[in-house]
Amino acid sequence: IRVLGIETSCDETAASVVALDGASAPDILSNVVLSQIAEHAAFGGVVPEIAARAHVEALDGIVAAALADSGVKLDEIDAIAATAGPGLVGGLIVGLMTAKAIAAAADKPLLAINHLEGHALTARLTDGLAFPYLLLLVSGGHTQIVRVAGVGDYQRWATTIDDALGEAFDKTAKMLGLPYPGGPNVEKAAAKGDPTRFAFPRPMKGAAQPDFSFSGLKTAVRQAAQAIAPLTDQDVADICASFQTAVADALADRVSRALGRFRTEFPDQHEPALVVAGGVAANRVIKATLERLCTTAGFRFVAPPLKLCTDNAAMIAWAGIERLRAGLDEENAFDFVPRSRWPLDTVSVPVVGSGR
Ligand code: ATP
Ligand code: MG
Ligand code: FE
Repeated sequence: IRVLGIETSCDETAASVVALDGASAPDILSNVVLSQIAEHAAFGGVVPEIAARAHVEALDGIVAAALADSGVKLDEIDAIAATAGPGLVGGLIVGLMTAKAIAAAADKPLLAINHLEGHALTARLTDGLAFPYLLLLVSGGHTQIVRVAGVGDYQRWATTIDDALGEAFDKTAKMLGLPYPGGPNVEKAAAKGDPTRFAFPRPMKGAAQPDFSFSGLKTAVRQAAQAIAPLTDQDVADICASFQTAVADALADRVSRALGRFRTEFPDQHEPALVVAGGVAANRVIKATLERLCTTAGFRFVAPPLKLCTDNAAMIAWAGIERLRAGLDEENAFDFVPRSRWPLDTVSVPVVGSGR
């Protein structure tokens, strides 16, 4: 099976061709990602209108590049898979409409893919991971723990009650005068800082409820920064280091609770695994904390390569392959309307259409 994937839900314009032949490992034949970071940097965050326009301008070229890189001609493609939600609706419309046009013109099936399902299934593309496993998705828009038990079988065990973790990094960076995107810059500054200088809260630590919260931490950072302003470079580094440690500590508490629940629900699973996805998974301190936690709990820690952890179209093409293989192909995706909100738990509804 060869699937062309298209991703336009946020600030990356991406296309990819992924192939699966029989029982052998899947092949990413091409994976083209154009980031719009430069377009949004001046505004300190993603501007939806700018994102949608940038997708319109870039997508045709990105799809052509993905096909050219893959060496596969459009008529040798078996299906087109496009992100249909959740995300910024302007970008979703551009991607799904383009996919519909290509699928209709080439007379190929069309799959409307949930972006979160793409993240959820990536570890099977990269590591051949078997079901069930636990997913920690930490990005600019999402902070979730999801139990992944099969294609279309997802259960959200935890989510954030306020800010997403990447958002908390970005807002913290902004408060401290660090450039956008905040995450990598906070991590860089933190490397030179003292993580014990500020005792920031560990939101939700010890709470019976599994969810995340980061807005209180963000407020604590703002208050600490205001109290000692004007900030020296060392102050900024110390705040970043203290913030990052608080985040890693809070995450570890929330995740360890989920690992315990996974053990209880799947007592026969001899090698349980935790997968991380999303841009925040790039953070080395967070990654090391989670890895240690997994080792202690007897879980395998799976961190796919960063290029496939952040937004990309290979994961969308792969989700398409997984859905085709699972026979989830009854609904006509040509009628599918992009959804800005689309919880992963609800995608058990199959979404695929035939030629037109
Ligand atoms: P979505 O939630 O729809 O996937 P997104 O585009 O915001 O959208 P990603 O591209 O996966 O998500 O991740 C971007 C986020 O990851 C940003 O918030 C960024 O600050 C954060 N991030 C990137 N690198 C790091 C890092 N080293 N440490 C912490 N956060 C990071
Ligand atoms: Mg992004
Ligand atoms: Fe994403």
